[in-house]
Parts: sequence; C-alpha cells; structure tokens
Amino acid sequence: MKNSQRRPLVVGNWKMHGTLVSAGDLLNALRTSLQQNTAVDVAVCAPFVHLPLCRELLTISGIRWGAQNVSAYAQGAYTGEVAASMLAELGCHYVLIGHSERRALFGETDAVVVEKLRQALAAGITPILCVGETLAEREQGSTEAVIAGQLAAVLSALPAGQLAQLVVAYEPVWAIGTGKTATPEQAQAVHAHIRRQWAAAQPGQAEALIVLYGGSVKADNARLIFAQPDVDGGLVGGAALDASQFCAIVNAAEQAWNH
Ligand code: PEP
Repeated sequence: MKNSQRRPLVVGNWKMHGTLVSAGDLLNALRTSLQQNTAVDVAVCAPFVHLPLCRELLTISGIRWGAQNVSAYAQGAYTGEVAASMLAELGCHYVLIGHSERRALFGETDAVVVEKLRQALAAGITPILCVGETLAEREQGSTEAVIAGQLAAVLSALPAGQLAQLVVAYEPVWAIGTGKTATPEQAQAVHAHIRRQWAAAQPGQAEALIVLYGGSVKADNARLIFAQPDVDGGLVGGAALDASQFCAIVNAAEQAWNH
C-alpha cells in the first residue's frame, strides 16, 4: 500500500549528455507525451547550459526541471562554479546533491554535501540528496552503516525545517549505469532503513519523506520496484535520455500508485 502523504516522483538525470538540438527534441517529446499526466510529479535534471531551454520549453508543461550540481558557495571568486541563486533564476525546482559520481569522481565529501544542501535550501530549491553503497560495501555487509553515515552527516547538520524539504534518492553505486538493478526487495529494505533513520531523528517527518530509487531503472523493471511500499519513485539516468523509455517509467509509477 502506498502512503497517501507522498506523491510519486520520477526525475531524469541527463548527466553530461546531449546538444541543444537533442535536448530540445527530448523536452518537446516529454512535453507532448506527458501532457495528460497529473498523477506523478516529473522532473528532468539537465546540464547547466540546457537549463534556459528547459525553462523555455517546460514552463506551463507541468514538468519541472533542475540541475545536477550546485556550488557550496553563495557567490564570489569561484571560477567555474554555479550558485544556487543562479539556478533559482532559471526556475530550477530541484538540484541533485551528493550523486555518487560527484562523490567518487570529484571528491565530494559529506561536509561539502551539507554546504551544498544549505545553499540550495537558501535559494528555495528542493535538494535531492543521493546516498548509496559501493559493491564492496554491500558485499562486506555494511550497506546500512554506509547509508546511515551519509544520512547522519545531514540529519545532524540541518534544522528540522530544512530537513523537511529534502528528497532522498537511494542509489546503490553498483547499480548506476551498469544494467544491474537492486531487486525490489533489496530496494525496499534500504528505503525502509532510510525512513527508520529519518524517523529516529525527525519523528514527524519520516512518513512524508520522498525516497526515490535510482540505479538502472528501465521501463521493464520500474513497476515492480515502484510497487514497494517505501519506494516513492525513481531517479533515472540512461533511460531518461529516451523519451519513450522515460514516459514508460512515469506510467509505471502511475500504475504502481493505482494498485
Ligand atoms: C543516475 O545517474 O542517477 C542513475 C541512476 O543512472 P542509471 O539509471 O543510468 O543507472
């Protein structure tokens, strides 16, 4: 059974893919295909340079847009960085923070993640906080401990009012871009763990917390994963670059909520 306090959410993470032309084609296809959708919240997290196009093509579509990263600083001499206030000016509703690719490839620590969350929240943008374990950590049996550590850094740093605005994405690192998906049961177990930990820190918030699953979600596996009681939708990488796949995943979310 799905909890009526939570609406399903499906977010595409385009990563560093596309051109202005291909992004425009994808946005137009999503806008056309999803115009009847009212049951699922949908967003795309595009590269920074495609965000003005998102604003141009998605305004009044019902589809939201967001960024994949944000600076840990508000403004100043930080060459190459993009401030949360700049994302807000472009109408970003969401920003991914702490994606495993940023943690692993760009050295993002929990402390940096917290600073980025603060910046996003101060600009009125909803952060999607990504957490997840590596394959080695899962095989050692430390999945829950790793995720508990990533969450604890945030739960202990932000006040309740800010924590209430977060979305969490559970993304097992071994499932991202690999074609390997967590089983619905594996996903449910970790999602329930995340909700329990949230409840321990913020008892009034856990039932309303949106927890997405990410890691090789495709049209053919989404429905069973989304059917799990603590899975509130998905963060979708590769399949988000294909309009028909992404729309099928949105439909799978709708079906999971209608059952
Ligand atoms: C992601 O990038 O967040 C992701 C889940 O990618 P993929 O769906 O390709 O595994």
